[in-house]
Amino acid sequence: HTECYNNLVSSYFLQESEPQLSQAEKQKQSIQEVRRSLPIFPYREDLLAAIREHQILVIEGETGSGKTTQIPQYLLEDGYTEGGMKIGCTQPRRVAAMSVAARVAQEMSVKLGNEVGYSIRFEDCTSERTILKYMTDGMLLREFLTEPDLASYSVIIIDEAHERTLHTDILFGLIKDIARFRPDLKVLVASATLDTERFSCFFDDAPVFRIPGRRFPVDIYYTKAPEADYLEACVVSVLQIHVTQPAGDVLVFLTGQEEIEACCELLQERCRRLGSKISELLVLPIYANLPSDMQAKIFNPTPPGARKVVVATNIAETSLTIDGIIYVIDPGFCKQKSYNARTGMESLIVTPCSRASANQRAGRAGRVAAGKCFRLYTAWAFKHEMEETTVPEIQRTNLGNVVLLLKSLGINDLIHFDFMDPPPHETLVLALEQLYALGALNHLGELTKVQKNYKCSEEILTIAAMLSVNNSIFYRPKDKVVHADNARMNFVVPGGDHIVLLNVYTQWVESGYSTQWCFENFIQFRSMKRARDVRDQLEGLMDRIEVELCSCNGESAVTAGYFYNTARLSKGGYKTVKHQQTVYVHPNSSLFEEQPRWMIYHELVFTTKEFMRQVWSRPSLCSSF
Ligand code: ADP
Ligand code: MG
Repeated sequence: HTECYNNLVSSYFLQESEPQLSQAEKQKQSIQEVRRSLPIFPYREDLLAAIREHQILVIEGETGSGKTTQIPQYLLEDGYTEGGMKIGCTQPRRVAAMSVAARVAQEMSVKLGNEVGYSIRFEDCTSERTILKYMTDGMLLREFLTEPDLASYSVIIIDEAHERTLHTDILFGLIKDIARFRPDLKVLVASATLDTERFSCFFDDAPVFRIPGRRFPVDIYYTKAPEADYLEACVVSVLQIHVTQPAGDVLVFLTGQEEIEACCELLQERCRRLGSKISELLVLPIYANLPSDMQAKIFNPTPPGARKVVVATNIAETSLTIDGIIYVIDPGFCKQKSYNARTGMESLIVTPCSRASANQRAGRAGRVAAGKCFRLYTAWAFKHEMEETTVPEIQRTNLGNVVLLLKSLGINDLIHFDFMDPPPHETLVLALEQLYALGALNHLGELTKVQKNYKCSEEILTIAAMLSVNNSIFYRPKDKVVHADNARMNFVVPGGDHIVLLNVYTQWVESGYSTQWCFENFIQFRSMKRARDVRDQLEGLMDRIEVELCSCNGESAVTAGYFYNTARLSKGGYKTVKHQQTVYVHPNSSLFEEQPRWMIYHELVFTTKEFMRQVWSRPSLCSSF
C-alpha cells in the first residue's frame, strides 16, 4: 500500500513541474546548469584554443571560478584522454584532492574511483579505468620514481600553484624539465589571483590566461584593540552575526584541529544555553584529518531559516569553495612550519598569516553577494605586523626527504636544480649532512643501498604508522576528562611515548581490532583503523623491496634514526645536544612526570613554549653518548 501511495504522490508532484524527468535526471540537469553558470564557462572555447596552441599555460582565476572542477572535464571533452591517456591534477591538500574528485565524479555521473579518482598518501582511489586523476602534489612526485617522463599523462595540471608548497615547487622544476623532451605533454599551472607573473617568468614566459572573476564588494572591519583570546573572540563574533545580521553563512578561519574542535564545542554549548531564543545554527568543522563523510557535510545547502557556520583551517582559503558564505571571521593566524637551518630544528608554529592570505580569506565572503569580513586584529597590525606574502615552504623546511627523493630520481647536482625560489644554501647542506650521518648518502653524496638492520621492522612499522596519525589516538571528551586520562595512564610503559603507541596498537590487535575495546579505552577507532591501513601499506612496500619482517625491540632503531633529536635534562627543562636550545616535555607525554636525563623527540611544536612531542627515553641512551 505504502509503495503504491508513494508512487501516486511522486507522480502527482512530477506532473506539477516537469512531467518526464525523474529525480536523478533533474539533479543531473541542475548540475549541468551550475556548470554552465560558473565564471569559467564562457571562456571554455578560448581556453581550449590556448591550450592547443601553447605547451605551457598559466591560468589565473578567482577561487570558485571553476578551474579545478571544470578544466579537466573540458580537456576530456576535447579528446585529451583518447588512446588511454590520463589527465592529472595536483592539489597541495589531501582534503581538496578527495573532495574535488568526488564532486567531479558526481558532475560526470560516474562512480568515484572509476573514470574519476584520487590518490593521496596511503589511499589510492583509482583504477585501470581512471582518466581524470586528482592527487596530492606529493603523490605526483612519487610517480616520477616509477614513470620518470610521466608517459601515461597527456596533461598535467599543477593546481593551487600559489600555495607554493614544497612538493609543488619541486614539481615545477621536474615538469619544466620533462616538458622539453615531451612536446606532446600539456602543462597547466593554475593559481588564484596571486603571483601569476612569476609563474609565467619561471616557465620561459608562458602566456597567462585570465578568467575574470565574479566578485561582490566585501566590507572589512577591524577590531579597535588586539584580541587577547582569538578563539573566544571568534565565538562571540559568530553569535553576534547570527543574532544581528541578515541571512547568510559564516566562515571562520582557525589554525588546526584542536582549535576548531574547541570552537565548535563552545558554539554548540552557547547555542544550547540560548535555546529557542535564537534560530538554528549549524556548526560544521573542516580540517585535514576529519573523516570524509563529515567533510562532505559542509557542502550541504543550509535549510531555510537556519544559518551555517563552517569552522575551517586555511583549506577554505582557496582549495575549497563553499557556496553561500556571506560573512568571514579572520583571527589572522595560521599554523606554519618553520625551520632553523642553523640548529636544524623544525617546528610548527602558530603565526600571523600574510596580507595575501588575509585578502584571500576576505574574498570568500563576496562570492554570491556583497559580504562582510571581520578581522579580529587591528588595521595597524594588518599594515605593520603581517608579511606581504607567505614565504614558500621550500625556504622554511627540512629538505631531508626531498633530497632523498631527488637523489633517487638521479638528480645529483642539487645546487643547480631549477628552483623557482632556491632554498637557503645552509638548509641544503644540512640536509646532505644529516643524510650522510644517517648513512643514506656516501661521501660522494650518492644514495647508498645500506639498510640499518636492527631486526625490529615489525615494531618500527607500527610506531611509524601510529606516528602518522599523530595526536588523534587518544580520545579526551570534556565531560570525561578524568576517565580518559586514567585510561591513557593504563597504557604507559617505561621507555616513552613511542612505546606507549606501540603498546596501544599491540593491545588493539590482541582485542581483534575491536571497536568496543577502543570505546572502553578512550581510543579513537577511526585513527586506529587508519594506522592499520598505513601499516599494511608500509608492510607491502617492505615486502616489495624484500626487507625481512622481524621483531625484537625498536629501541636502538629509534635512537639511530633520530639521534639529531636528542635532548638532555637541564635546569627544569631540556637542552638539545647539538645546539643547546632549551626545550620542554609536552604535558601530554607519558614522561612528563618522570623527567629522565636523556630524551629523543619525534618533533618540536611551539605553542606557549618549545615542546617536544612524542618523546622516548631509555637508560641505555646515556651510554650512546
Ligand atoms: P576553483 O578551482 O576555480 O576555485 P572549483 O572548480 O573548485 O573552483 O569550484 C567551482 C564551483 O563548483 C564552486 O563555486 C562550487 O559551486 C562548486 N563546487 C566545487 N566543489 C564542490 C563540492 N564538493 N560540492 C558542491 N559544489 C562544489
Ligand atoms: Mg581550485
